Amino acid sequence: MNLHADVCVVGGGPAGTLLGYLLAQNGVSTIILERTSGVSREFRGEHINADTEAILREHDLFNKIEELGLLRMSKVEYFAGRHIVKTILPGKNEEHVGIHVPQSHLLSAIINESQQYNHFQILYNSTVTGLIEDDNGFYTGVKVIKDGQELVISSKIIVGADGRYSTVRKQANIPTEQRKHGYDVLWAKIPAPQGWEPTTRMVFVDGHQLALFTQTGSRIQIGWNIEEGTFPLLKKGDIRSFLEPLVSSFPELKHIVLENLQTWKDFVCLKVVSSCSETWVKDGLVIIGDAAHTMTPTGAIGINCGLIDAHVLAPILTKAFLENNTSAQFLKQFEVSRRETIKNQQEMQIKKEVSFSEIFTQLELV
Ligand SMILES: Cc1cc2nc3c(=O)[nH]c(=O)nc-3n(C[C@H](O)[C@H](O)[C@H](O)COP(=O)(O)OP(=O)(O)OC[C@H]3O[C@@H](n4cnc5c(N)ncnc54)[C@H](O)[C@@H]3O)c2cc1C
Repeated sequence: MNLHADVCVVGGGPAGTLLGYLLAQNGVSTIILERTSGVSREFRGEHINADTEAILREHDLFNKIEELGLLRMSKVEYFAGRHIVKTILPGKNEEHVGIHVPQSHLLSAIINESQQYNHFQILYNSTVTGLIEDDNGFYTGVKVIKDGQELVISSKIIVGADGRYSTVRKQANIPTEQRKHGYDVLWAKIPAPQGWEPTTRMVFVDGHQLALFTQTGSRIQIGWNIEEGTFPLLKKGDIRSFLEPLVSSFPELKHIVLENLQTWKDFVCLKVVSSCSETWVKDGLVIIGDAAHTMTPTGAIGINCGLIDAHVLAPILTKAFLENNTSAQFLKQFEVSRRETIKNQQEMQIKKEVSFSEIFTQLELV
């Protein structure tokens, strides 16, 4: 079977779905190919900041997401043991210090809104395995395995929004340099006790950050930074003694922690890397979001970067069709608009990672 669309977006994550919606709104026919079977994802970036909120409002999506459920964070608190050493409150005229949006709510709201356009399609269980080029070196389509069957989708532009391990990036031979940050993150989710405030809590444990993110639906997501590559060794030890610093900082969670985190399998390990690909465009092809630039979890900005990419790219692609110009030279304006900001944000993440411990050492000096 062969299908055709103006744009073929590989990856139905935040960046890919928002782009598909905006293109469909602009009258550009779009097919999104997503390898999973729906919108549920485990352990992904789920905090949006004020800039992203403004973009979602501008595109009339925020209220649709809010109907499905989200949670405004009232503050960020830094703990030394059981003592709060620093609190970040919303700035003047701000209502929150970030919003927790379950990724399934974000994706469902965007896809539901997109379905009103009959030139929008999303195909699940569809894994892109290769790219097709014409004689002039322009990318003109993708090879897909859908439900075990081979498909070809032809399109004038291919967008790789397929995450940190991007097949599109690899198939287009775009080099990317990965940077390690000296730590990995263990993620886990536990129920929140009654009356638990919607805040983000940070603790300093053996030189590493332990973060508790309150989530929509009375959950707490734990993000525990550990030394890079040490999870296999850690798993040989006793989980109860590992959990001790968490329980001693938050004794009110003791019962819940011990009940829900009984084995190491209750944690998922994310290898922390950042990267920025050498180029984000080729003739007839663009990469966005994590595929172009993977961020570290610091500051929870990964999802925000992907959504802003889509917001910036949509009018450029729309213009590319109006002017019948899908060359790398034309598409480069997207990269020019975004690369410096992304680079600055990555530098900012490194500064925050390095200075995290200072928040606590300053307290000891007082
Ligand atoms: C385990 C994990 C935990 C994370 N935790 C955090 C966090 O706490 N805070 C934070 O800010 N960020 C976090 N991130 C990063 C954040 O989720 C991303 O920055 C954000 O989701 C980027 O959006 P995206 O649309 O670019 O890519 P993704 O969300 O990765 O979406 C890519 C999509 O492409 C699909 N796909 C991949 N390959 C193919 C293929 N060949 N064919 C078809 N479809 C394909 C995938 O199934 C996925 O749906 C985490 C990422 C991971 C992987």
